[in-house]
Amino acid sequence: MEGFTIVSHPLVQHKLTILRDRTSSIQLFRTVVREMATLLCYEVTRDLPTAPVRIETPIATTDAPAIPGKKLVIAPILRAGLAMAEGMLDLVPSARVAHIGLYREPATLEAIEYYFKTPDDVSERLVIVVDPMLATGHTAIAAIDRLKEAGVTDMRFVCLLAARHGAQALRAAHPDVPIWAAAMDEELNDHGYIVPGLGDAGDRTYGTR
Ligand code: URA
Repeated sequence: MEGFTIVSHPLVQHKLTILRDRTSSIQLFRTVVREMATLLCYEVTRDLPTAPVRIETPIATTDAPAIPGKKLVIAPILRAGLAMAEGMLDLVPSARVAHIGLYREPATLEAIEYYFKTPDDVSERLVIVVDPMLATGHTAIAAIDRLKEAGVTDMRFVCLLAARHGAQALRAAHPDVPIWAAAMDEELNDHGYIVPGLGDAGDRTYGTR
């Protein structure tokens, strides 16, 4: 699928298997979500431009590459995106954070907004939207709609696991927003859960079920 990248690195795939395993503890699940987010952050930022800056090493003056411009924004979709945001901040500690509160209305699976807080100048920054599960795509599409309303023009979406249906829906709604994931599963069940998937990422991260 154009604009959809699967990160096939063995570490990412091994960690995803740990997340899929129902016997993995809450503590392990949370740790591995964070670790995977760090690895995916490395991939999603792979093509960021660099420009030379003049610095002094202990030995000499040199021009060395640095990432210019405004710090990027990590935008977790609450609440399951929070653990992923922590993993990305481990790698990019100076990033800003935009919180997007959306929940899925159980009957329709539609996304309902209850919280939205971004840096004032979010429209001038690259925004990386994170949510572990891209299932129906409703939540991701609504989050990106909302960020576009706030003026954001440069976005990337990162999830741990995508359903083909959700990935296609997000690509159709927002063809300008590329997607990164560790894997794509083919099916969704009647409750909008990914099959085989890994269950409810929020509940497994926070031990709420
Ligand atoms: N959200 C989840 O946490 N899991 C799914 O399988 C789908 C949506």
